[in-house]
Amino acid sequence: MCQEVAHAVQLALSRRGLLKAGIGVGAAAAAVLLGGPAVVQAAPAPADTAADFDTRLTLLGTAGGPAWFPGSTRRGIASALQVGEHTYLIDCGDGAAGQLAAALLRGNGQAHPFRLLEPLRAIFFTHLHSDHVVDYNNVLLQGWTAGLGRIRPVQVLGPGPRGELPPVFQVPGRPRAAPAAVFPESPTPGTVQMTDGIFRAFATDLNDRIRDYLWPDLRTLVQVQDIRLPDIAAFRSPNQTPTPDMEPFEVWADERVRVSATLVAHAPVFPSFAFRFDTADGAVVFSGDTGPCRNLVRLARDADVLVHEVIDVAWVEQLFPAPRDEAADALMHHLLSAHTSIEDAGRVAEQAGARTLVLSHVIPHNLGDQRLREAARHYSGRLIPGHDLAAIGIGRRRAA
Ligand SMILES: [Zn+2]
Ligand SMILES: [Zn+2]
Repeated sequence: MCQEVAHAVQLALSRRGLLKAGIGVGAAAAAVLLGGPAVVQAAPAPADTAADFDTRLTLLGTAGGPAWFPGSTRRGIASALQVGEHTYLIDCGDGAAGQLAAALLRGNGQAHPFRLLEPLRAIFFTHLHSDHVVDYNNVLLQGWTAGLGRIRPVQVLGPGPRGELPPVFQVPGRPRAAPAAVFPESPTPGTVQMTDGIFRAFATDLNDRIRDYLWPDLRTLVQVQDIRLPDIAAFRSPNQTPTPDMEPFEVWADERVRVSATLVAHAPVFPSFAFRFDTADGAVVFSGDTGPCRNLVRLARDADVLVHEVIDVAWVEQLFPAPRDEAADALMHHLLSAHTSIEDAGRVAEQAGARTLVLSHVIPHNLGDQRLREAARHYSGRLIPGHDLAAIGIGRRRAA
């Protein structure tokens, strides 16, 4: 299975390979592959079609990466899983706090503004790239005004420290020395240290509101932990084996969900997780950022919903025409090796046996649904091109 996926990656890396392999390409799709991506205005936020489900997934933001694109209505990557009275937030990309508030208001238009975030039970970070965490401070600080952690502390779980700096991208024949590290005394902090850094940066605001409004200390309203990795036989080091073959492992559970994780292929980022939420209504898996990998297929086995990242390889190739300078080479290498093509997202979902595939973390942000639907060439389940604030019911509807 892994070899099949690896082969698929090779095909995705080569436009010529795609065509040579005879992967079904219709006339319109071929035009897209050869001439560039279909650029269309993104659809407006869809109506809530999942209001009468106990368990519901809401795509808060569906944009991958930190850039801005004309014509896009996507905010940064973030998803909310609501299970009964609890809400779980997965990643905090640009705009996540406001989108979370919008999703919670949609389910409860009469909510008191100071209590809106009371349902938020836990936050999970797949990895610490800025497009997944940049609105975390907003969730904390503005959430403080909106009931965050007031019933019980919000649990925050994410990657621990990387432990060593990643390698410097090298072009063959042109060796490049390592640049100076940023904060060399602690150059690869994990989730706990990142959170502490946010509190320190905003100490003026914290002290003001604690003294002037008599609010509880924000630091007591969250409990943050770095996810501990299990012993993994195939693991050597973050630079040698960033994605060792492994079994999923449980990271957290409460009365509504059991959350398990695995390491995915987003090197040089380490650790980089995918998460699976098992609920009474079904299982929902979030791929995080990854190239196709066996660990993810294993985690997503028979899932009800797989939310998978996706990148348009043709767009990448058009963006970086040869000859390329070294910086363009480096970014192109990352985009193609650490992310999943539209076609491969379909293959991964098919191999996992996931019943619904939701495409999110879309790169470029202004990619149209027509192009995203090409994942269905390799996938026989239900395919949903993701859009911001789309809601998907999971399991059975609530009794009327
Ligand atoms: Zn990302
Ligand atoms: Zn990333």
